Amino acid sequence: MIPVAAMAKLTLLDYPGKTAAILFLPGCDMRCPFCHNSDLAAGGGPRTDIKEVYAFLEKRRGLLDGVVVTGGEPSLWDIMPLLRDIRDMGYLVKVDTNGLRPEEIEKWLAADSVDYIAMDIKNSPAKYAATAGLPSVDMNLIKKSVGLIMNSGKEYEFRTTVVRPIHETEDFRIIGEELISGAEQYFLQPFVSRDEVPDKNLTEPDDEFLKKCLEISAPFVKKIEIRGKNF
Ligand code: SF4
Repeated sequence: MIPVAAMAKLTLLDYPGKTAAILFLPGCDMRCPFCHNSDLAAGGGPRTDIKEVYAFLEKRRGLLDGVVVTGGEPSLWDIMPLLRDIRDMGYLVKVDTNGLRPEEIEKWLAADSVDYIAMDIKNSPAKYAATAGLPSVDMNLIKKSVGLIMNSGKEYEFRTTVVRPIHETEDFRIIGEELISGAEQYFLQPFVSRDEVPDKNLTEPDDEFLKKCLEISAPFVKKIEIRGKNF
């Protein structure tokens, strides 16, 4: 049985245009220094009884549009039975992923178990591993995930948490050119400093920096926004 660390009963923000519940699964194969859920990512935190999750979703059938399955990193688990059950209850399913396991994404898509995929793009390839807190990252895996998602026919987004000094504006030109050229949607998410973030030296990007990143990224994608900002 898949462990669920926590459930948020209502979000208006995490599934674009939909009302949804969120299921947080524990564990992650990245160690991003700006992670807001580092305890959960390390596999810790509480556990929610899966029976309670199913009972809640049964009760909310027809009242909520969808369910967001996030982490941590959901692809560490065999989430197919969970996705199928959620869809059988009539919900739309959104899955968030860091893209390190394209073989799992392929399975979700082949079984038509997902309606929306959101994938993190951590940084330009040369800085990917450091940004993910890993000794190395096989960029072929990341590129394979990007390709699968872009060709899936499903709704999707790529998103980057913009963190200073990890990101320079030049990184966004390289991300656009080498990773997500032609993508439907790209969201820049300004890093928000919090006590639980592992690296205390990281800072929030200012508006001028964000505007520059937006300007540089815009030609590469069909739609781009900065989440939480009106420019
Ligand atoms: S991929 Fe997401 S959950 Fe995993 S460490 Fe990075 S920010 Fe945290």
